[in-house]
Amino acid sequence: MMTQRTVFPLAAKFPTICTSEIAEIPAGAGRSAGTIQGTQISMASQERTARMEKIVALCKRRGFIFQSSEIYGGQNGFWDYGPLGVELKRNVRQAWWQDMVIANDPMLPDPAAPCGFNIVGIETSIIMHPQVWKVSGHYDLFADKMVDCREAKGRYRLDHVKGRWINAALAQKPAADGTPAAQVAAEDWLVTTTVDGPEAGDAITKRACKLFGVKSNETHKLAWKSELVSLTTATEQLDRVIAPEATAPGTLTPPRDFNLMFETYTGALQSDDNKAFLRPETAQGMFVNFKNVCDSSRVRVPFGIAQIGKSFRNEITPRNFTFRSREFEQMEMEFFCQPSESFKWYSYWRDRRMKWYAALGIKSENLLLREHHNSELAHYSVGTADIEYAFPFLDEGEYGELEGVAHRGDFDLRSHSEGKLDKSLNVEMGPDGQPKYRGSGKDLSYFDDQTRERFVPHVIEPAAGCDRTTLAFLCEAYHEDEAPDDKGVMQTRVVLRLHPKLAPVKVAIFPLIKKDGQPEKALEIYKAFKDAGINVQYDAQAAIGKRYRRMDEIGTPWCITVDGDTMKDGTVTLRDRDTLEQIRVPASEVVDLIAKRLR
Ligand code: ATP
Repeated sequence: MMTQRTVFPLAAKFPTICTSEIAEIPAGAGRSAGTIQGTQISMASQERTARMEKIVALCKRRGFIFQSSEIYGGQNGFWDYGPLGVELKRNVRQAWWQDMVIANDPMLPDPAAPCGFNIVGIETSIIMHPQVWKVSGHYDLFADKMVDCREAKGRYRLDHVKGRWINAALAQKPAADGTPAAQVAAEDWLVTTTVDGPEAGDAITKRACKLFGVKSNETHKLAWKSELVSLTTATEQLDRVIAPEATAPGTLTPPRDFNLMFETYTGALQSDDNKAFLRPETAQGMFVNFKNVCDSSRVRVPFGIAQIGKSFRNEITPRNFTFRSREFEQMEMEFFCQPSESFKWYSYWRDRRMKWYAALGIKSENLLLREHHNSELAHYSVGTADIEYAFPFLDEGEYGELEGVAHRGDFDLRSHSEGKLDKSLNVEMGPDGQPKYRGSGKDLSYFDDQTRERFVPHVIEPAAGCDRTTLAFLCEAYHEDEAPDDKGVMQTRVVLRLHPKLAPVKVAIFPLIKKDGQPEKALEIYKAFKDAGINVQYDAQAAIGKRYRRMDEIGTPWCITVDGDTMKDGTVTLRDRDTLEQIRVPASEVVDLIAKRLR
């Protein structure tokens, strides 16, 4: 669900590498360590950057995530999931669906919940009636402010650019509009960058040195007039702003709104009448089907409607690997409840969703539940909390949103019934005195036949991103430790400690040697796993230690080795990825044993 889009900007450390779109911010500019305002960049920051680089490299090397259309130079903001990535993402979806849809039943209430409830699934179309987006507010409001640089042809999100004011007395050159150096020298200029975090100050210093011809060991000559400020504070002084890739001030256009919805046309004619939008969120599919679901299923308020599906946002600066993409998948649930009970449900869903991430292996110190301040809340929201994760591409102590849990009141059902609501939650009127965007006119209230009460339900919405969640699980799982090689010598190993439920491959089967009936026995066990529907791999190539490493690196929780003893006593070695413990178990029982551990 769209919330106010003024969350802190994320570091541009891992932008997509893209040659097909020229109006993008350069990759990784100013990434090197250094000093900012006298502060040494911490080792921790460098370690986090290095860690993220290794994760991105592993994703490509082992077939988790590839850049979309890579052989053509890539398409910025779009990603492909490879053979292992697709399994991991399916497991993330499955874990969410199990918890949100399958596990809930009014007859088996969760003791932490105000009462028992149902959640049903739905799958709605990506292109919906254009009125949906007018009424929901996306058509008018779903916009970021951006500026263009006339000199460098770059396009930047206003709130992603920051800079420091500097006395321009050192300027050697006239300004872009031809103003002589002597005149501009009396002014302060804002030297800007799109680099975030501790590296931003360093990047600005380097730019200033270059712009003013100051040597890197003479930075004391730079006459700074401010600490870091956002470009949002300088929109009235753009003539004195040196854009992130420009060589002189005054090259930025005034900020303008950039709607994030992708437009398309339905039918043969490309006219305004046929204009449609790729959905920027899945949530509206649930609201417009509220009545259909109530009329066709045996649900009673409180209940939820859940959906997993693709959403599209034409993000100005997609970056940080899959974190901010232009095509991504959401896992959203709209929970409809009695207005008087809504706050209890809000607290319940906020806490329950936090537990989900923890149960699947995210350490509590890397998770943050951040309640929005009143000033951050969308006008219809009486409470919103973000569940955030300490992604390694962020600075230490910073977190990025995985999921928003919002109390949305009756905003959505009322809007789709009456018409787009204004800030006071009245129907917004156009200049002709009629509703600016008409609702469907359908009655979307709910009649409770037990209490004989009619009301418009309030909505609690946990809205998660499948790609961000998958990325968080990958980041959390990535470890480097030591394990013995075939000769017993300790070696560094890369291991993905993914929760077994999420691991793309659950178990690997190895014959120790390729003779004495071992491959045949291993294949028999391999087939038994396949028959049980458990994702299994067979590997007979290379030394056993190497085969273990290959499996550790992709997060396979268990490896089974068929050896000489197997042929004598029917047992196999079962090796645990995390503890490295090896136990012998009867080959005939190993499938059941793993199936039990996966439950
Ligand atoms: P942000 O502030 O990061 O742009 P948002 O608050 O607009 O996100 P929501 O509209 O609440 O996001 O969407 C719900 C979830 O969808 C987010 O928590 C996130 O996990 C995911 N999501 C949103 N935008 C993107 C994107 N561009 N790329 C990947 N996932 C996204």
